[in-house]
Amino acid sequence: MSKSTTDGPMACLSDLSQNLWWSWDPRAVSLFAEIDARIWQRIEHNPVALLANLSAKRNKQLAADTDFCRRVRATHRRFKQYLRARTWYQQHTKSKPRGLVGYFCMEFGLHESLPIYSGGLGILAGDHFKSASDLGLPLVGIGILWRQGYFRQGIDKAGNQTHRYDRLNPADLPISEVTKPNGTALELKLQIGQDKVVARAWRLAVGRMTILLLDTDLPANPPQYRKLTNRLYSGDRQTRIRQEVLLGVGGWKLLRELKLPVSVCHLNEGHAAFCSLERVAELMKDRDLSFTVASKRVAASTVFTTHTPVPAGNETFDPKLVLAHMKSHARQLGLTNDALLALGRIDPSDTGEDFGMTPLALRLAKKANGVSELHTEVSRKMWQAVWPKRALDRVPIGAITNGVHIRTWLHPTMSDFFDEWLPSDWDAKQDRESVWAKVKNIPAKALWELHCKLKLELIDFVRAQPSSGSRALDPNALTIGFARRFAPYKRAALIFSDIERLNRIINNTRRPVQLIFAGKAHPADADGQELVTQIVRQTRSRRFKTRVIFLEDYTIDIARHMVSGVDVWLNNPRRPHEASGTSGMKPALHGGLNLSILDGWWPEACKHGKNGWFIGTNKDHSGSAAADARDARSLYRCLEREIVPLYFERNRQGVPIGWLRCMKNAIATIAPTFNSHRMVKQYLGRYYLPCLRSESKK
Ligand SMILES: *Cc1c(COP(=O)(O)O)cnc(C)c1O
Repeated sequence: MSKSTTDGPMACLSDLSQNLWWSWDPRAVSLFAEIDARIWQRIEHNPVALLANLSAKRNKQLAADTDFCRRVRATHRRFKQYLRARTWYQQHTKSKPRGLVGYFCMEFGLHESLPIYSGGLGILAGDHFKSASDLGLPLVGIGILWRQGYFRQGIDKAGNQTHRYDRLNPADLPISEVTKPNGTALELKLQIGQDKVVARAWRLAVGRMTILLLDTDLPANPPQYRKLTNRLYSGDRQTRIRQEVLLGVGGWKLLRELKLPVSVCHLNEGHAAFCSLERVAELMKDRDLSFTVASKRVAASTVFTTHTPVPAGNETFDPKLVLAHMKSHARQLGLTNDALLALGRIDPSDTGEDFGMTPLALRLAKKANGVSELHTEVSRKMWQAVWPKRALDRVPIGAITNGVHIRTWLHPTMSDFFDEWLPSDWDAKQDRESVWAKVKNIPAKALWELHCKLKLELIDFVRAQPSSGSRALDPNALTIGFARRFAPYKRAALIFSDIERLNRIINNTRRPVQLIFAGKAHPADADGQELVTQIVRQTRSRRFKTRVIFLEDYTIDIARHMVSGVDVWLNNPRRPHEASGTSGMKPALHGGLNLSILDGWWPEACKHGKNGWFIGTNKDHSGSAAADARDARSLYRCLEREIVPLYFERNRQGVPIGWLRCMKNAIATIAPTFNSHRMVKQYLGRYYLPCLRSESKK
């Protein structure tokens, strides 16, 4: 179906399918689901593929369904209005500066039908763009079209994780190839090390925003470059550095080629930090500036967000590899090889040090931030040596705590419920406490009934998975969810430390408890995979069968089901390794209660016993087995003494009044702060606007 042959209902649907706006509009989602619920399910809620495979018969039926057609037109009208409306940014920003912010990220987690993400970083970037769109921020995204995405997880007979890669077909995705004014495909010529490489770009529409996705899978390229954009976070160091040159250097060249007025860059994690070197080189050439002056100007217009204190997340490269790929930049920058390498070293004079993308990004960004208050404190300590003359409290790394896009993560039924009980403009004013304070007016029984309904929906979803079966889970049991990447520091198996004690908690006949797990371990992470196996084996053991569940192949879709249906969300990393974590913010929107180590965002939100609970202490984990055991004991104690008793304490109508008080507190205290509207407004006010303003004066 072509996009604009008519303005009939099918053309409207096609139009809707080409902009991810539909994915956070429940009425648009349900229109697509209605077309064919079975296919919709099977193709991972991909409307482009759905419409492409629609039978002539079904097409005819739909076109004759006047009610359906009316709703399609109405939704399409709302979509057009959304695109046209005066935005929050237009209304609330005095003297809007010229220019755009270019937001660079290795992964974007926007929807399960576009699997070019791995985990938290991508989801955060996706939520950032959805809020930027809702509010109308001057932003454009730069990423990579991963043809095979991250891997798809399976579980074999022995309980081990297996890896599969599906190939994406651009024709089935809401993307269009970027073309030159004359209509032919844009071909970006790049030099990567000694090699000449061609890249193209795809345009992805996310509401009002555009994300440009680079792609080197072109016949003109040698095989190793055709494969460069196949798989996210896989491959050897050489592949990785080439991917990062593509994102940083190629991404900047693309913006230039398209003549987009990008004057500020936001590097979301260090992967794209080569962008800053490319920009310095360009400034030196175009304006005849010295390296010192040009690098100061680039720094003044660069925002850098660091996302993890875990060493593996702060990428380093062998200096030889860096020189093999960036030597021509050293020449353009007028730097010796050593001076170039020094930019990526914590101690520039330490020639034994590898080249780090984080020090490089920090040195060439005037504005830098961590993603929670605790993570910022940790980051300042970690990177203080980059500014040897500065005291710890003057290390220039600020804090902007992550948030989640409420419309994406909130169950539509919950959203209708909020429409009923909160001020009608609660969505637009989601970052105000006064809006959410109204939650206290909701009758306990009504909220409980709604929660039970969403929990049943989750249980049905689990039972429909072949690996769990129809006898899985008990609607009356206290249900705990745990879903995240299986990185060892997240300790997915902590709750299995003392099997007998856990058995008594889970298999208590009067007060049963059950656990739902999901998460992938990186294909090269043997320890993480061992954790997957350990948990899968527990799900198959006689005593935990039907009570401990592992959902294969964690995706945004699985996350959405889990966060709207669980009673408790468990998070037990080794403090302070979790930079922020956002998964716990999603159940909280539904009144799910966090049970978490005081790490990441949780110290900022936790009111123990009132809106959730903390486990462990407010001290850092020592790394010892004894410290793990201590955290596990704290977890059991909290479950046994506080959580389980509160959950099963019911009034005469069977409603857990004390629990509901906590549910309401969780919504009222967490929703107004840990949403991505608040987050992007902070990026705008503290970083984007000051940088754009000072650039527009130059
Ligand atoms: C929210 C979310 C994450 C982030 O999880 P954290 O471990 O809390 O950072 C990762 N993956 C998916 C699919 C998510 O929805």
